[in-house]
Amino acid sequence: MKIGFIGTGTMGRPMLANLVKKGFVVVAYDVVPEALAGAVAAGASAGGSAADVARRSDLIITMLPSSSHVETAYLGAGGVKDGVASGRLCVDMSTIDPSVSRRVAAALARQQVRFVDAPVSGGVARATDGTLAIMVGGDAHDVEEARPALVAMGANVIHVGAVGSGEVAKLCNNLIAGVAAVAVSEAFRIAEGFGVDAKVLTDVISKSSGNTWIMEHMHPVPGLVARSASSHEYAPGFMTDLMAKDLGLAVNAARELRVPVVVSPAAQQVLRLASSHGLGRKDFTAVYTFLKPSSTQAPV
Ligand code: NAD
Repeated sequence: MKIGFIGTGTMGRPMLANLVKKGFVVVAYDVVPEALAGAVAAGASAGGSAADVARRSDLIITMLPSSSHVETAYLGAGGVKDGVASGRLCVDMSTIDPSVSRRVAAALARQQVRFVDAPVSGGVARATDGTLAIMVGGDAHDVEEARPALVAMGANVIHVGAVGSGEVAKLCNNLIAGVAAVAVSEAFRIAEGFGVDAKVLTDVISKSSGNTWIMEHMHPVPGLVARSASSHEYAPGFMTDLMAKDLGLAVNAARELRVPVVVSPAAQQVLRLASSHGLGRKDFTAVYTFLKPSSTQAPV
């Protein structure tokens, strides 16, 4: 099966490399020449545009930064829709607004092209070793058709529901992870202020109702979990800017549905502030370093 891969950046390149390793023939395209060169070095051939890649492929995969990039790559001039043959299947693995997934799917359906959304969780390390978690939204038959390619890139491929549902699952997960990172950071700063040892507090919380995946695996305080980004100068991991983006998508989805959300917008603003103080490209657990106590002694 020949796969067209569009968007060969931080995540796309190692994902494409795993497809090549598993025997798929891949033709790639990226608007940035260096990113396309990286894909060629990983074993793909170079396409001239998204439309060109789509024309030459049985299955089209996209891994792009955000909603607007996905709309452009599929529906803009020279995009997938200009090259893809009717009956083909497209798999968008970017993290975007579920409504945009549905809009792109509807536009492609008008020319008998199928679409599933399949965002990922796991970051660069798991993209590289092919163990991403992949949440898929789409028709069950289409998901099965995409599965061989998806299992070449991920260890867990879960069919969530109709088109857009993969994105919904991703946003819900990251809403919880983003909020938890801020909450754990706040808790450990308070404990620190009272002179409570962070390791002892971690032991206590790990056996109590405040335990979270974030604290267990991605502890924001350095030196407590060997594999956490915090123990490696907050090298991502998953960047603060990406987590802020995902919380923004969750907040927008909530607004669209008129679901009141209070905690996630607050967490998003904390992450945005951390980003504006130079932490945008650090792991999102670096929010802990941003929540330093004030150095002034003003009364509270
Ligand atoms: P990235 O910016 O490193 O890569 C995206 C690539 O898409 C870039 O090389 C860019 O040039 C290319 N691109 C943009 N518009 C294009 C177009 N119209 N046609 C062709 N190429 C185009 O981003 P990334 O870190 O690889 O993330 C991709 C997606 O995966 C995002 O939605 C992100 O939220 C999600 N994600 C990222 C991570 C992570 O750890 N980096 C983890 C999980 C999910």
